[in-house]
Amino acid sequence: MAMKENALTLKNLLATPKKIVITTHRGPDGDAMGSSLALMHLLNQFRHNVHVITPNSYADFLNWMPGNEDVIVFEDNKEEANKITENADLIFLLDFNHISRIADFAESVSNANATKILIDHHQDPDMEIADVIFSDTTACSTAQLLYEVIDAMDLTNHINKEISECLYVGIMTDTGSFKYASTTAKTHHIIAELIATGAENAKIHDLIYDNSSSNRMKLLGYCLNKKLLLYPENNSAIISLTAQELEQFNFKKGDTEGMVNYALAIKGIIFAVFIAERDGVVKLSLRSKGNFKVNVIADKYFSGGGHMNASGGVSKVSVNETIKIVEKIINNKKKELNNQNN
Ligand code: 5GP
Ligand code: MN
Repeated sequence: MAMKENALTLKNLLATPKKIVITTHRGPDGDAMGSSLALMHLLNQFRHNVHVITPNSYADFLNWMPGNEDVIVFEDNKEEANKITENADLIFLLDFNHISRIADFAESVSNANATKILIDHHQDPDMEIADVIFSDTTACSTAQLLYEVIDAMDLTNHINKEISECLYVGIMTDTGSFKYASTTAKTHHIIAELIATGAENAKIHDLIYDNSSSNRMKLLGYCLNKKLLLYPENNSAIISLTAQELEQFNFKKGDTEGMVNYALAIKGIIFAVFIAERDGVVKLSLRSKGNFKVNVIADKYFSGGGHMNASGGVSKVSVNETIKIVEKIINNKKKELNNQNN
């Protein structure tokens, strides 16, 4: 990616006040909201008119983020969102690489005449998706890449407390608190800068991770105690939840976030799958360690995608039938699953 060249193009686009929409993928996570709100706070410093529009709502543990109250949720405000999008000069697409990831908001964005700018770290971006493409698949998070874009535009002196907090959330959540292999020295340098410019690291960790309802913790206990399927001979594990089970624990958006990682925390497990039925849709989260590529599985079997070690998708059949499909996949990939140096 020609970072300097793209940054110059972007700087020129931003030289005069613009009507700007920032959007991100459906089911926005910490990186999606962190980078979107950080960019909003930056652009607001330059007399632009900026709106963050998300395809749908997100977990409560992200609601404290600065700028949260200004976010427009497309699903709940279609008319307003469509009007703003139609009239936009620039549309930023953050943390996704294919237009299908913004679900029902895609039509409006695709039809808009605005110049589109992609900032993303997912594999194989659709090069037709935007006019200016910042894509770095080695970046741990879109938030880190956004920091680098801001740096390339010589605007780091505009990073204030709000921006640093938002970027910190994005990097922290997409690196599993700086533990995934995608975390580099550069990541830590950027994090140091963000703390220096106002991000309160301990406060942010607490607000994101130590802010669960008791129901969520009980659901976690239930998952591990009653719903964990282990395939030790193939280094794999599955956790699943039906809609009824979620209801039993008074499920709120975000409650199942990170559950899949507990299965991966078991010694020897290198492939973990979490399956849950929500709003009539069976959604999968796939995680792996090492070279076992879950994005290939998500793409092939579950109309999804993502990163090599963290992907997601959907299943068209019931939770129980989905378990059977995953079991078949585990069986078919026996060799690969046993050949990992783990
Ligand atoms: P999660 O399991 O946390 O929902 O998603 C993990 C990663 O998988 C996300 O960061 C995203 O890259 C990818 N992902 C999740 N769901 C989908 C999906 O439905 N389609 C695609 N293409 N990617 C997904
Ligand atoms: Mn991301």
